[in-house]
Amino acid sequence: MKDSLHFIPLGGLNEIGMNCAALVCGDTTIAIDCGIGFTDEHGAELVHADFTWLQRQRSGLKAIVITHGHEDHIGALPYLLKELSVPVFAPPYAAALIEDRLREHRLTNVDLRVSPAGSQEQIGSISVERFAVHHSIADATGLILDTPVGTVVHTGDFKIESDPCEGQRFDRERLQQVAGDGVRLLLSDSTGADVEGRARIERDAETALEEWIGRSPHRVVVATFSSNAFRLRAVLRVARERGRKVCLLGMSVLKHTETARALALIPSVDDLLVAPDEVDGLPRDQVLILAGGTQGEPASALSRLGRDEHPRVHLEAGDTVIFSSRAIPGNELSVFDLVNRFERRGIEVVTRDRNPEIHASGHGSREEQRSMIRLVRPKAFVPVHGTHHHRSRHLELAAEEGIAQTQLIENGSVLEVTRDTIGVVDTVPTGRVYIDGMRALSSKVIAERRTMGSAGLVTVLLSLKAGRLRELPQVLSRGVFDGAERLRVEQKVAEHVRNRLKGRRFQPWRSPKKRQLRPRAGSWSRITGGAR
Ligand SMILES: [Zn+2]
Ligand SMILES: [Zn+2]
Repeated sequence: MKDSLHFIPLGGLNEIGMNCAALVCGDTTIAIDCGIGFTDEHGAELVHADFTWLQRQRSGLKAIVITHGHEDHIGALPYLLKELSVPVFAPPYAAALIEDRLREHRLTNVDLRVSPAGSQEQIGSISVERFAVHHSIADATGLILDTPVGTVVHTGDFKIESDPCEGQRFDRERLQQVAGDGVRLLLSDSTGADVEGRARIERDAETALEEWIGRSPHRVVVATFSSNAFRLRAVLRVARERGRKVCLLGMSVLKHTETARALALIPSVDDLLVAPDEVDGLPRDQVLILAGGTQGEPASALSRLGRDEHPRVHLEAGDTVIFSSRAIPGNELSVFDLVNRFERRGIEVVTRDRNPEIHASGHGSREEQRSMIRLVRPKAFVPVHGTHHHRSRHLELAAEEGIAQTQLIENGSVLEVTRDTIGVVDTVPTGRVYIDGMRALSSKVIAERRTMGSAGLVTVLLSLKAGRLRELPQVLSRGVFDGAERLRVEQKVAEHVRNRLKGRRFQPWRSPKKRQLRPRAGSWSRITGGAR
């Protein structure tokens, strides 16, 4: 039989987040990334890919390989690891975040192995080597996968900085070597395929931040993606140089600062930090607040500052809020609402819309994607990580660069790659799993929530004695009737139900397990005998 491999994305195509794919080579399956998406559908907070197909691989699934520590690549790990036991390989910063997350979910027996850029593991029949890429998080890696059909390069999320900051690495030389030996397939991040030119570099965002903080006369709030230790380090450095104490507001800012400090990505800041209740006691021009919540999340520290509902920290007219971030598609309205809340109170707001220099994306634009294709010179190209539109644009780019074999795939596509051919040969079932709190919502619960959300809810409680109605039923409605009308209609429904059930006798409720249980007078009973 011909050698072949299958690449199967389970999530991450056609949505933001939820990145997860499987690579199958003979008896070896590895999962690449296991991410979460954010949602407010069905009252859930999070959504991840349906892992049923992956769980069915059982002993074939040898490892989960994590490219980097962003939530859309690691956030669903606890939900998958609750169902199956498999080693997880992750670069250092991602591993520290994963450890934390596993603790929250009380998962203590996970085989988590730290594998930095440059490391190599033999996982079943696949050799997995990591190479460093520039991205908006420390320790981001791409993968060089040595398989029986040839070398597969997976870029992970990437950009290519022309003037990298301290600690940012891109293993160009290693990719050149690999390209020299021949690359069968390039799987590449398509996020920036719509943006012409090159992405703004991290160093320029730092310079802009420095200028904006420098010209702010009073308190400054900086909101940024706290997983970006390079940006955190820059804000902390500028604060120190400007004689401002730093107050960290929000769990995510605290956690990422602690993790970055533990991995020596930022210097010691103990002398720089002040607690939230010390902020009011400091002169307004000697404090900088690092706050979480760039996407306008209602419970975040930044949103509470916007509503002036933070118990300890309050902003005033003349203070400045800097959004060193971008609104993730879908969050524009909540971010805009938050900006308005600040501006209405005379607080100056700096955003990327009016001041593009204030943020640098972690994803390369079109010219960096072109550079990657030229660097790797693959025989085949498949865009991953991005909507259909972005991946189509990325595909055009590969065609422009003379790549003969290109293929668009969707969640669930089984992409077969042999030494000579590439194509979709099958599909596997995929779907979305919604998470509320820490538990998955079944399709039944979602359907019930949808019905209640669109039609409201009416409950009728019957109190029985010796199988007969004891009193007028209790009717409670929510989301159906308005104000004074509600009580009147509930009363009418109660009377209607009583009239319809008059004279009926109800059989006692029988528990499926304890059928011999004798009914008690007044116990809740199942209506039988023709209630309609
Ligand atoms: Zn990322
Ligand atoms: Zn990503």
